[in-house]
Amino acid sequence: MADPISAPILVAGAGPAGLIAALGFAEAGFPVILAGPEANDADGRTTALMNPALKMLDRLGLLDALRPAAAPLKIMRIVDATSRLIRSPTVTFRASEINEEQFGLNMPNRALTARLAEAVAAHPAIDWRKSLVRDWEPAPERVKARLTSGDQVSALLAVAADGRLSPAREAVRIPVSRRDYPQAALVLNFGHSRDHSNISTEFHTETGPFTQVPLPGRHSSLVWVVRPETAEQLSALGDTELSNRVEARMQSMLGRVTVEDGRQVYPLAAATPLRFGKDRIALVGEAAHVFPPIGAQGLNLGIRDIDDLVEIASRNREDPGGARALAAYDLKRRPDILARSGAVNLLNMSLLSDMLLAQMARSAGLGILGSFAPLRGFFMREGLRPGSGFQALGSGLRSKHRQ
Ligand SMILES: Cc1cc2nc3c(=O)[nH]c(=O)nc-3n(C[C@H](O)[C@H](O)[C@H](O)COP(=O)(O)OP(=O)(O)OC[C@H]3O[C@@H](n4cnc5c(N)ncnc54)[C@H](O)[C@@H]3O)c2cc1C
Repeated sequence: MADPISAPILVAGAGPAGLIAALGFAEAGFPVILAGPEANDADGRTTALMNPALKMLDRLGLLDALRPAAAPLKIMRIVDATSRLIRSPTVTFRASEINEEQFGLNMPNRALTARLAEAVAAHPAIDWRKSLVRDWEPAPERVKARLTSGDQVSALLAVAADGRLSPAREAVRIPVSRRDYPQAALVLNFGHSRDHSNISTEFHTETGPFTQVPLPGRHSSLVWVVRPETAEQLSALGDTELSNRVEARMQSMLGRVTVEDGRQVYPLAAATPLRFGKDRIALVGEAAHVFPPIGAQGLNLGIRDIDDLVEIASRNREDPGGARALAAYDLKRRPDILARSGAVNLLNMSLLSDMLLAQMARSAGLGILGSFAPLRGFFMREGLRPGSGFQALGSGLRSKHRQ
C-alpha cells in the first residue's frame, strides 16, 4: 500500500466552513490537505455575513470579488406578526446607531462557494482531494483518514468541517445533544416592485420567523419557517399563487412580488456536541453547532470557530492538534457557541410556545430593546462580535467617570 500523504493540517469537508478553514490555515503558513467533493450548486440560499466575518474574507483576499453579488444590510427590523394576546412592539436596529455603515452583506451561497473554491484551487499550500473521507483512525501521534479514492492521509490536526452529521465527530465519539423542531424553512428569492432600501425584516409568526433579506437591485431572499407539511404545500404552489402569499405575508411593503426559480425546503433541527475537540479532531461550522436560521448566526459563528482555531494552531505550531491546543480551542469556543445556540433556540421556542409566560417574556424583552437605545446598541455590537458590546459599555462607563 502507498505511503500516506501527510500534512500538518487535514480539513474534511468542502462546504463554506471547510473552504474558509483551508484558506485560513494556508494563509497562516500551514500546508493543508482538503478532503471533500466540491459543493453542488443546487444551494439556492443566501447567507448574511456580518462585518467581522467579512473582515476574515477580506484578509483572505475574497471580499472585493464577492461585493457585486451582495447587498449591504443597513437596517434590521423585527415585527411581531403573531395574533397572540401578548404581542411585541416592532424593534428596529440601525447600523448607524453603532457607527457602522452596514451590519454586513447578504450574498448567494453559490457565489460565496464558487469564489472560495477558486481561491482554494489556486492556493499553492492547499492540496485538494475531491473525495469523501471513508474512515478515520485517530491515534496519539497523528490522525489518519482513508479517502473513498483510496488515498490515505495523515495529519497533526484534522478540522472537521464535514457538516451536521460529521463523520469525524462520530469517529471520536463526541456525544451530541439533538432536537428536531416541528418546523421547516421554505427558501427562495424574489423580485419586488419597490426598493428594499437595504432593510431586512424578520416577521415573527406562530410557526417561526419569515425573514426577508435584501439582494442587489429590487431582489430579496426569503426564509419562511412554517410546519413541515405547510412548507411542502407552499413549495408546490404555482408561481403566481406563491408570489401572492409572500406579498400578503409582508403586507405588500415591497410592492408586487414575483418569486424566482429554485425553491428549497430545509427541515429545522438543533445539535450541540458535548465538546469541540478530541483526539486531534477539532469541530467547526455545522459539525460544531446546528440551530434554526434566525438572526443570521450559523456561518458567522462558523467563521469565528475557524478564526480561533487558526490562531490557537499558530500559537502551537509544533503540534497544532495536540491535547494542549485542543483544550485551548474548546475553552475559547464554548461560551460563544453555547450562548448563540442557547439564544436562538430559546427565541425559536418562545415563538412556538402557547404559554403566556413565554410570550410575555419575549414581548417584554423586545419592548425594552425597542425603547432603550443603549441596550439596543449593546445587543447590536454583541450580535456582530461577542465581547464588543461589553467593551463599548465599559468605555462608556469609563468616560462617564472621567466627566
Ligand atoms: C435556510 C437557512 C438559511 C441560513 N442563513 C444563514 C445566514 O444568513 N447567515 C449565516 O451565517 N448562516 C446561515 N445559515 C447557516 C449556514 O448555512 C450554515 O452554518 C453553513 O452552511 C454551514 O456550513 P458548513 O460548511 O459547516 O456545512 P455544510 O455546508 O453542510 O458542508 C459540509 C460539507 O462536508 C462534506 N462532507 C460530509 N461528509 C464528509 C466526509 N466523510 N468527508 C469529506 N467531506 C464530507 C459535505 O459534502 C459538505 O460539502 C442558514 C442555514 C439555513 C438552513
